[in-house]
Amino acid sequence: MAEPLFRRLALIGVGLIGSSVARIARARGDLAAEVVATARSAATLARVAALGIADVVEPDPARAVAGADCVMICAPVGAYAAIGAAIAPHLAPGAIVTDVGSTKQSVIRDLGPLLPAGVHFVPAHPIAGTEFSGPDAGFAALFEGRWCLLTPLPGSDGEAVERIRELWRRCGAMVAAMEPAHHDRVLAIVSHLPHLIAFTICGTADDLADESRAEVLQFAASGFRDFTRIAGSDPTMWRDVFLNNREALLEMLARFMEDAQAMARAVRWGDGAYIEDKINRGRKIRRSLIEINQA
Ligand code: NAP
Repeated sequence: MAEPLFRRLALIGVGLIGSSVARIARARGDLAAEVVATARSAATLARVAALGIADVVEPDPARAVAGADCVMICAPVGAYAAIGAAIAPHLAPGAIVTDVGSTKQSVIRDLGPLLPAGVHFVPAHPIAGTEFSGPDAGFAALFEGRWCLLTPLPGSDGEAVERIRELWRRCGAMVAAMEPAHHDRVLAIVSHLPHLIAFTICGTADDLADESRAEVLQFAASGFRDFTRIAGSDPTMWRDVFLNNREALLEMLARFMEDAQAMARAVRWGDGAYIEDKINRGRKIRRSLIEINQA
């Protein structure tokens, strides 16, 4: 077994993502010699203790980060400013602060200015998840074969970036670096907009008159079923993602609405060729995803 990458890894938030990292650390032994976990609620802390996936379960975030050489924030992105204010004075000199948040410019905006000099900041985002949340939802294979995007800042310490790269490699992920604004635009189209559409379409179905609503559930075709899976995701996490990637999400939504209008026009005027062409493009994207093992 390789040497542990870190002496003490503090996880701030132990839901789907944080508890998956904790499980990997437990299973491999070479992420950190000691894992400390903190969360907001007593119920989550008790559950993490019962699962035995952290060496120390600590209700106070300031105490959780004390002496940690790596702090990984795994909470909803709307909580970052408050978390940053709570932990910043207690961070050890030379510590690396990293995260897993789904938006990157907001994380850099909210956390960056709070971190003291001598603490290295390496924002990251593993592109892996499910619609489930909480410490029971995590599993050690979550990041296997998936991408983790790092969005280091111009002045980021190369050695700190390399250690976070290695951490994600040991979690089974493929790692790439990306500029934060570019990350937010790419994620707006591949993840944030699809979630917005799923939440919206479920709302539209739910607004139908009572008798058709019952039929929507009873006869849900696979298309609608797939949307309901995505729509089952955590409301706090997704509210925070939408509000913290506002510009890119609104831009992608505007483009989507234009294209949806064009499709509506083709349907209205019986333009079968246009419709078929769009469906063929969709099928091509699906086939490419399968080919690169990201389906
Ligand atoms: P989750 O399962 O809902 O877990 C969130 C965790 O954060 C919980 O342990 C929660 O504690 C804790 N938390 C919330 N507010 C906190 C605060 N103020 N201080 C300390 N802890 C706090 O969420 P998740 O799916 O793991 O998502 C975590 C992060 O990963 C988010 O930023 C999300 O954008 C990102 N992400 C999610 C996915 C996905 O598909 N789910 C994929 C990639 C990245 P309590 O349980 O006590 O409230």
